[in-house]
Amino acid sequence: MRVLILGGTAEARALADMVAGDAGLDVTTSFAGRTPEPRLPAGQVRTGGFGGVEGLAGWLREQRTDAVVDATHPFAEVISRNAAQAADATGVPLVALRRPGWSAGEGDRWHWADTLAGAAALLPALGRRPFLTTGRQDLAAFAGLPLRFLVRAVAPPLPPLPAHCHVLLDRGPFTLDAERALLREHRINVLVTKDSGGPATAPKLTAAREAALPVLVVRRPPPPAGVRTVTTPAAAAHWLRTC
Ligand code: NAP
Repeated sequence: MRVLILGGTAEARALADMVAGDAGLDVTTSFAGRTPEPRLPAGQVRTGGFGGVEGLAGWLREQRTDAVVDATHPFAEVISRNAAQAADATGVPLVALRRPGWSAGEGDRWHWADTLAGAAALLPALGRRPFLTTGRQDLAAFAGLPLRFLVRAVAPPLPPLPAHCHVLLDRGPFTLDAERALLREHRINVLVTKDSGGPATAPKLTAAREAALPVLVVRRPPPPAGVRTVTTPAAAAHWLRTC
């Protein structure tokens, strides 16, 4: 059985590591190719876009793919929509693997925005020294704001960047102690994040709560309609072994 995992997340890698050794499963993980030196999963790897819905559907046919797991990031809207349409067009079974989003607890001061542009509109009222953790591709919405940003990203962020911007290149997981120290060192007074979910980057939320800082959270886009969703690599592995 030939399996395509659309990757770019820790969950995609965990799933590939879980199932690549199964007898009878031939597993390929696909990367967009944006992150230099990604952590590689077990099994085969391919890199680069497919060329839209048509390209992906063609690839599934050519490779005689039997099942697809869309384990991309919850904010990777385009590839998830393409996967749903290509699966429909080819009749290849598809499941989406999405880690659950975060939710506010006692003591949290969270503000929600529907989009990055919405977050940028709210931000100046919340603090002058934001810690921006929305990813390297998504700074344009904040570029015009006269605030002193600390930006953390896996690889150099794509322009346009805000005028006052200190860039920190790092990739999770991050520890609570390190996040506390970072907030103090840069005198951060507001945190901006997508609702990415998962434990690897959650300590920043705890550190913000402890410091009584406001957190601006960008809501997830809605997933493609009608796609079955599981929330853990183990559940996706079970689906693959029984579909
Ligand atoms: P996107 O906007 O949904 O996708 C844009 C295009 O990139 C797609 O149309 C596709 O090109 C290509 N692509 C995306 N994921 C791919 C994959 N796994 N394999 C092959 N091609 C892929 O995606 P994005 O938000 O730029 O994210 C790119 C990658 O980074 C994804 O793999 C995602 O899991 C990961 N990531 C994203 C975020 C985020 O916040 N968006 C955060 C962490 C990791 P074609 O149309 O040519 O096929």
